[in-house]
Amino acid sequence: MDMFGKNVGKEERASLEVAEASRQTEWKQGSFLRGLYEGKFLWNLVYPFPEQTSEDKKKGDDYLAAIEKLLREKLDPEQVDLTGEIPDEVIRKLFEMGAFALKIPESYGGLELSKINYGRVMHLISSYCSSTAVLLSAHQSIGVPQPLLDFGTEEQKKKYLPRFRKDAISGFALTEPGAGSDPSRMTTTATPIDDGKYFLLNGEKLWCTNGVIADILIVMALTPPKVVHGKERKQITAFIVETNTPGFEVEHRCEFMGIRGAKIGLLKFTNVKVPRENIVAGEGEGLKLALTTLNTGRLTMPAAVTGACKYALRVSRIWAAKRVQWGSPIGEHEAIADKLASMSASVLAMEAMTWYVTHTAMRQHADIRLEAAVAKKFCTEMCWDVTNEALQIRGGRGYETSKSLRERGEGEDAYPIERLVRDSRINTIIEGTSEIMNLFITREALDIHLKRMLPLFNPKAGLFAKLKAVFDMGVSYAFWYPRLWMPVLGFGKAEEGIPATLKPHLLYAKRMTQRLARSMFHSMMIFQQAMAKKEILAARFVEIGCDLFAISVVCSYTSGKIKNGASEEDLTPLADLFCRTTRRRIACRFHEVYYNQDGLKKAVSKKVLSGKYDWLESDIMK
Ligand SMILES: Cc1cc2nc3c(=O)[nH]c(=O)nc-3n(C[C@H](O)[C@H](O)[C@H](O)COP(=O)(O)OP(=O)(O)OC[C@H]3O[C@@H](n4cnc5c(N)ncnc54)[C@H](O)[C@@H]3O)c2cc1C
Repeated sequence: MDMFGKNVGKEERASLEVAEASRQTEWKQGSFLRGLYEGKFLWNLVYPFPEQTSEDKKKGDDYLAAIEKLLREKLDPEQVDLTGEIPDEVIRKLFEMGAFALKIPESYGGLELSKINYGRVMHLISSYCSSTAVLLSAHQSIGVPQPLLDFGTEEQKKKYLPRFRKDAISGFALTEPGAGSDPSRMTTTATPIDDGKYFLLNGEKLWCTNGVIADILIVMALTPPKVVHGKERKQITAFIVETNTPGFEVEHRCEFMGIRGAKIGLLKFTNVKVPRENIVAGEGEGLKLALTTLNTGRLTMPAAVTGACKYALRVSRIWAAKRVQWGSPIGEHEAIADKLASMSASVLAMEAMTWYVTHTAMRQHADIRLEAAVAKKFCTEMCWDVTNEALQIRGGRGYETSKSLRERGEGEDAYPIERLVRDSRINTIIEGTSEIMNLFITREALDIHLKRMLPLFNPKAGLFAKLKAVFDMGVSYAFWYPRLWMPVLGFGKAEEGIPATLKPHLLYAKRMTQRLARSMFHSMMIFQQAMAKKEILAARFVEIGCDLFAISVVCSYTSGKIKNGASEEDLTPLADLFCRTTRRRIACRFHEVYYNQDGLKKAVSKKVLSGKYDWLESDIMK
């Protein structure tokens, strides 16, 4: 038995081993979320809320104004959606403005925008045309520039980065038809030839965003396995591939329900010859590179979806005030008023989380890998709710296309909510599905316990190692566990500047942090390694952590805004509403840790899978 437990099959174990080998194991800096799962409420990591310097803000403001002008004058998102094309002229202009080299340092020809300003650009573009945001984001959030900046050699940076300022578009190619969430199932190979001077790439990559038009790709492929600790280990390696290399083909441009202007394809590699110097981060380091890149890429998604939600909120507000039914504006009927209030509170939380994570990544004073995953999951799920509610508020007009609304005349406002909903749906799937984010967060949340208990699970550990592990565990838990029952006092000086209405929410978050760590510890003691397989139970802990993080950043963000002149009278009710609603959700999740239907659901789903309820599918067209 090892850390994966005895109930893990051979195939799953192989997948987990590949993921585990690519996991970033060290925590050199603090993390608010990791702290939460350990029972520590590291308030100093979220408060005071970080702020953009006026100089950086000015740089961002100027650039945003220029992008906004370009979009307004040259880009019609409705046409992009209808034709599936972003006009060449717009792409050319975006290149002229350096929009494909936003984060690249000036020394390599880029604009060297800060992460905050980069996020602001994506936020703005996403509120208008998701396909254009996807083009720019897939290129530089996960495409070649990001892994090169993180892992490239000086020669690679000098060779490729300046091209992104001129005319080169890039993409990130990890997914394959058989390898989606589980990259260990990858079959694309890179076979060394000419004494290892070159590699021949063979295989297919699916849904590569920008792949259809890309000039340069970062491609993950299997290089020959290596023997590590007596066991053969798969090696995944990342290559820079120029798409004009013979043997590269775009097999198919994929079509989707939304982001219809994005050029996403199935790519085929047949003996594509790539020189060894195109390996990024070293042989066998490709999955680590891919996962780290996705981690950084996850900073863009919250900013982008928050932009889209703000547009949805704006349309909802205008329409709810204007549309009169049953004698009053629909926004005054309680059911719609309820939606407007909840949507506004959600947007506040998305904004707080987005800018907290981005600022923290920029200041590099904390490790944000967990926060980025939570922000991606939280904001994309909220985005789906908010855009869906906007559609409901617009009623039939929400379901009608903007083209039809416009062509119908009668002074109809042609808001593209139908497109916004279609465009938003993909976000909980790409760059790590919500379910995979849960698994990732669970793994890290359980890490302190797994580390302590690991020697006990290791069949090769001798008796002495096991006794030592028991002793060490006893000592560390003897200090750690009782602390989780200590009364939670206030924050003292650390709560200065927090509006009085919000202080009880912070105290609650601090108390619940202890309860979260306790509950996780109890579950871990019961289920041990099998805990990681208890996905529904683990998801509750993940979501409680996520919600406690959300309450904390909302309180911090609100206080920061008030300090900078926002009206306390207006802002605190909004933050208060978010915190109160979220506390209800947290209470419900804690209750469900012990009172749930997880076992029953498992039993029913087994019957579903085996076809026992196929009569539920009767009398339909098959
Ligand atoms: C429009 C679009 C653009 C994309 N762009 C890119 C790109 O640029 N580059 C790239 O490499 N890839 C890209 N992808 C691929 C995307 O990242 C994958 O779709 C995603 O990783 C999920 O893989 P999958 O679709 O094969 O789902 P699967 O892995 O088959 O999963 C199906 C469902 O099962 C769930 N699931 C899987 N495993 C588990 C588990 N262990 N526990 C619980 N639930 C689980 C998933 O969450 C999901 O809900 C894109 C996809 C789309 C649709």
